Amino acid sequence: MPSSHSDLKDTYYDTLDPREYIIIKRARVNNLKNLSVAIPRNKFVVITGLSGSGKSSLAFDTLFAEGQRMYVESLSSYARQFLGRMEKPEVDYIRGVSPAIAIEQKVNTRNPRSTVGTSTELYDYLKLLFARIGKTRSPVSGKEVKRDTVTDVVEWINQLPVDSKIIIACPLTIPTGRKLKGELELLLSKGYTRVLVKGEPQLIEELAGTKKKIPKNTEIEILIDRIVTNPTDEDLNYRLADSVQTAFFEGHGDCFVYSDKKKTPFSDRFELDGMRFTEPSVNFFSFNNPYGACRTCEGFGKVLGIDTDLVIPDKTLSLYEGAVAPWRSEVMGKWAQPWLKHGAKYDFPIHRPIADLNHKELELLWNGNKDLDGIHDFFKYVESKSHKIQYRVLLSRYRGRTTCPDCRAPAFVKTRDM
Ligand SMILES: [Zn+2]
Repeated sequence: MPSSHSDLKDTYYDTLDPREYIIIKRARVNNLKNLSVAIPRNKFVVITGLSGSGKSSLAFDTLFAEGQRMYVESLSSYARQFLGRMEKPEVDYIRGVSPAIAIEQKVNTRNPRSTVGTSTELYDYLKLLFARIGKTRSPVSGKEVKRDTVTDVVEWINQLPVDSKIIIACPLTIPTGRKLKGELELLLSKGYTRVLVKGEPQLIEELAGTKKKIPKNTEIEILIDRIVTNPTDEDLNYRLADSVQTAFFEGHGDCFVYSDKKKTPFSDRFELDGMRFTEPSVNFFSFNNPYGACRTCEGFGKVLGIDTDLVIPDKTLSLYEGAVAPWRSEVMGKWAQPWLKHGAKYDFPIHRPIADLNHKELELLWNGNKDLDGIHDFFKYVESKSHKIQYRVLLSRYRGRTTCPDCRAPAFVKTRDM
């Protein structure tokens, strides 16, 4: 226990900062005898002691009881009437407690493979927590992937200076096999009157009737609405929201806002850097749900591939001594030749045992470079010839369960309990 009343003055606890400590002063629950403690926050704290010394009285009946009581107090009076009054634990005071979760000890003999997380049900909370607070980042730019909502766009528009003239638009996509003229007529029948051609408003009727040929890749957008901003006008805000919603719909997820000729794009698709992402859900964080597992190996951590230990069975040999097993034959020996000739040019030590090669050298041996074909190139070649029986036989000799190249996860037992 971090500190107890016996060695410190009672007033000491009054001076502590509840942002740093959970402070319990003079707890008298059950057999506790005016126990005062200061528990550091954001730390993993263990309470130990003899059986009957009051560990549970302190942890559950005092600390957790107070956390729970404060949580209930924070609810509306309507919600509280269903929960009943919770008594304040017998203490002078408790400070710095946050809403709490308690997990009681229980012996689970039913499934020996359960984890702490699963048998305490804490895992369910964690999955939910991660799904809710999880942020998706694009592996390309590292930026956060966000979906723009109608509210986001309306708020963005409303932060513009009052009386700004804005245009809400969306791209006009012409499905393959359909003509622009037909699409324009469709827009007219839907009640739209204008489009933007390269950002300039134009009447749809005029554009549809023009004799001029419109180049194929001309940027045409549907003008959804024109508005003069005024954030305090409630009716206008409704109209804005409506127009933005329409733009997202007609634009298949894209909405553009023009202000001062400047075009700001919004998207309600969960996309970034040209990639579409899946929004985090509880299933993502479940280790035996296909959603949460690696797509390539389905969470097994192993795939059927080239087994490196079969390719280089004896790592005390050097490349020169024939370390690469498939290159030992007379025919395939020609793959080793360029290495023996030009290896030195790329600082590749052909006489050094494979076990003593550094990461860079191994990488070179497997992946090669512009002049040297690596072991992977060799197997790609063999695979391309696998219509021939001798190549298929060769390939089968080196195939095995190998670490999944996509997640590089160590294989784990799939039979674990939820
Ligand atoms: Zn994988």
